[in-house]
Amino acid sequence: MSLDSISKNKITVLSGDEIWRKIQNSLQQNLSKPSYETWIRPTLFSLFEEELLTLLAPNPFSSNYLKKHYSKTIEKLASEICNRPIKVNFKTKDEKQVSIEPPSTEFISPSSLPGPSKSPETPGKSIKKNFPLLNSRYVFNRFVVGPNSRMAHAAAMAVAEAPGREFNPLFICGGVGLGKTHLMQAIGHYRLEIDPNAKVTYVSTETFTNDLIIAIRKSGMQSFRDRYRAADLLLVDDIQFIEGKEYTQEEFFYTFNALHEAGRQIVLTSDRPPNQIPRLQERLISRFSMGLIADIQVPDLETRMAILQKKAEQERMRLPRDLIQFIAGRFTSNIRELEGAFTRAVAFASITGLPMNVESVAPLLDPIGQGVEVTPRQLLDKVAEVFQVTVEEMKSVSRRRAVSQSRQVGMYLMRHSTDLSLPRIGEAFGGKDHTTVIYAIEQVEKKLSSDPDLASKVQRVKDLLQIDSRKRS
Ligand code: ADP
Ligand code: MG
Repeated sequence: MSLDSISKNKITVLSGDEIWRKIQNSLQQNLSKPSYETWIRPTLFSLFEEELLTLLAPNPFSSNYLKKHYSKTIEKLASEICNRPIKVNFKTKDEKQVSIEPPSTEFISPSSLPGPSKSPETPGKSIKKNFPLLNSRYVFNRFVVGPNSRMAHAAAMAVAEAPGREFNPLFICGGVGLGKTHLMQAIGHYRLEIDPNAKVTYVSTETFTNDLIIAIRKSGMQSFRDRYRAADLLLVDDIQFIEGKEYTQEEFFYTFNALHEAGRQIVLTSDRPPNQIPRLQERLISRFSMGLIADIQVPDLETRMAILQKKAEQERMRLPRDLIQFIAGRFTSNIRELEGAFTRAVAFASITGLPMNVESVAPLLDPIGQGVEVTPRQLLDKVAEVFQVTVEEMKSVSRRRAVSQSRQVGMYLMRHSTDLSLPRIGEAFGGKDHTTVIYAIEQVEKKLSSDPDLASKVQRVKDLLQIDSRKRS
């Protein structure tokens, strides 16, 4: 986000319908495609009265699922948009009490009224209230420990039990979808369990940066510093995104030092170790490396099966062992994708009433029954080959024409042939912002009809990866 992108004060009147659309947009960017398509897109706005947003789910199963898994997130987003606490409620069509009417209540979002101290983004809120931003599912007892994560898990437990002692900072690194955020938030939950008065602050690096921009623009640096430095436990997720942001790095350096000297615990996650984050100031590399660097590796088959088993238990589902083995065998390098496959399978079985077994689930995970999904890595390799650039260049910030074109095509194809969300696609390209991904996709879509050379290269990549023939129906 740039300074200019912070919208100017203006009066906006939002109807319930518009609020739901905003929430959907936000979820679309943060959820995987199957989760969004299965749960969020088919859910309609129904009614908005006072503090209650009522949504209409397509069937009772969805309604239950939404209640269990999404109500907190939706409430949080709705409350942020309206700048006051909003509850959410799910109904299905056959529940008589639901009337589908045009929104009866309109209101003026106070956050968008002119005037000081009403910013919806006031970050202090998330810090004063203890843990509004921690996902309730990301706790230790839902984290399956395997040989790939044993050390990171043990360090995380240790830090929660005795913060600010041995491992400060704790730096957790590992690939996308391997449980870094889960483990980091588990530290926060556990710390609060031990000491309910602890000030736990969880932020993404993006939020830290945005808060800083807002502080510079309006709320003032002092309050920014006071807020962040009040934390007993500061959890900063995806710190690799700080790369190249000089001013944020400088401010983070001061925040880090202030907390560290006061014996407060800092935990960071990243997709790579500190010394491999490009354009990261030396002094930060050395700070980040002075505690413990614990990595999470790709889980082996047994661990992946245990993760699915645990997930099934949490959903109170009984899955045959061969099905678990089948799914775990298909999704090898990313637990988020593994979970996505599981969710698809459960949704499918509940909607169709078919039994959950390998025969019924296989076509769903792999529709034409041959080959497996295109992985981001395969895609990067093939695009690089066709455009005669290197994968490293595609992940870099180079603006050389062939490189930027290959990058845009890669993002476009990744959007159409994998289940990755926009931020995840950005990550696959060396940590680009999701807005960059959206722009890239639009560019390619626009040029495809007018640029035959580009079109033929795109087709060439598709052919190499047999993308069209494996696409879902
Ligand atoms: P990362 O931050 O590394 O990209 P996440 O922490 O968001 O990954 O994990 C992706 C998904 O996989 C989350 O839903 C998380 O709960 C789940 N997950 C990851 N590792 C484990 C594990 N060891 N046990 C259970 N679930 C896991
Ligand atoms: Mg994460």
